[in-house]
Amino acid sequence: MKSQTHKMTVSIDEHSSHLDPFKDFYKQLDDEGRTIEKLSRQRVEDYQLKAVNATLAHVWNKNEYYRSQLEEAGFKEPRIESLDQLASVPLLKKDVIRGDKQKILSVDPKDIGQVHLTSGTSGKPIYTAYTLADQYIYDLLPKYLDIFKESDEDVAAIALPYEFALPGLGFQRLFQFAFGTGVLSLGKGGYMAPVDKSLELMKEYQATVLATTPSYAALLVEQSEKYGIRIGEDIRLKKIWLTGEGCSSTFRERLEKWWGCEVSFFYGSTECGGVGVECSEHRGYHVMEGHVKVEIIDPVTEKPLPYGKTGEIIVTTLLREGMPMVRYRSGDMGYLQKSRCTCGITMDVLHLRGRMESMLRLNGEDYSPFLLEHFLMEIPDVGMWYHFKLNQGVLKIEAEPFRTPLSDEQLAAKIRKHMADRIGIDCQVEIRHDIPRSFGKATRVFN
Ligand SMILES: [Zn+2]
Repeated sequence: MKSQTHKMTVSIDEHSSHLDPFKDFYKQLDDEGRTIEKLSRQRVEDYQLKAVNATLAHVWNKNEYYRSQLEEAGFKEPRIESLDQLASVPLLKKDVIRGDKQKILSVDPKDIGQVHLTSGTSGKPIYTAYTLADQYIYDLLPKYLDIFKESDEDVAAIALPYEFALPGLGFQRLFQFAFGTGVLSLGKGGYMAPVDKSLELMKEYQATVLATTPSYAALLVEQSEKYGIRIGEDIRLKKIWLTGEGCSSTFRERLEKWWGCEVSFFYGSTECGGVGVECSEHRGYHVMEGHVKVEIIDPVTEKPLPYGKTGEIIVTTLLREGMPMVRYRSGDMGYLQKSRCTCGITMDVLHLRGRMESMLRLNGEDYSPFLLEHFLMEIPDVGMWYHFKLNQGVLKIEAEPFRTPLSDEQLAAKIRKHMADRIGIDCQVEIRHDIPRSFGKATRVFN
């Protein structure tokens, strides 16, 4: 019942949960003047083991499904002795939670602060429930200040979906609350935010940071010419964060050239939040080890794979009370490496290899679309919009020309030769001038 008072009804300052010890952990780091990014492996692993155990205890006590799964796997108590033992905890599959808003909910429904949905192009969505404390305390506890340079001096334009999914609001909270950055909530091609108005707002408020998807970053820069907005003069960015879709390093470098600023990737999902982020070396994603424990498994045998071996990315969230993800099968492929990064960050490095279902099978081998994109983007005469179509084992590339003196026939021949040289694949090429621009997730692969 609401009390008769002008105080806020909800105070997250007084909130208490199984995650309280981790507030102390980050307070301790503050006192030492450090972040989790450059801690010793021992200290990070101690933290992660404690956080995994706190999460296991929480879901054991608060969620029937998780508890029954753990009991079936032989757990007498919700506890592992080492991070290696995490492999004995049952995996969480998408199909189990798809369309089911209760299955892994681990708080009283009245404590839900916000619900996000996956975009779910096929079938039912996956619901993710956050408490207010998840959003405004726990999710913002670990900061990665060596990676994120944003401050209250910056203005961040967020051109990511705000409807249903996490990205728009997630980046908004991060910038506003963790860094004090001013925010322009552009959204992405929505009814209220056409491209020209979005560019105009970035110009008026002198945006210094842009968070968006690779294809939308390309669309904005492409459309700026049409609206007479000069990138580098009217809009001068310091940094672009890309998320939502993967892309190759060559695509990223093109965006850097066009926008005249550094472009980095952020890897996350609506279910798990932030998972990995690129430092300025751009040699893979440092795992956000304050937020998640990442493992790689063989998708068929479900056995853990060592560093260097490509498999499915498994994520366990460490700082969630509403709906913790325990050994969640992301469906994304990649491999882990120990960090030897010259940036000095000790957090493991994750290399993404795309989604399992979007691999292209050519000559009996699986090819990541990003790898093919990488080779295609090596050709400067090719634009940023393309399709890969697979038809009875034959790859057809539809590409647009970009500021090239070559005729369509010459360009098609050049692409065919380049792809044959680079990966030994004979492909068909069609040069098009009308590849549709996308406001949603860009569809580039037709399998
Ligand atoms: Zn690094």
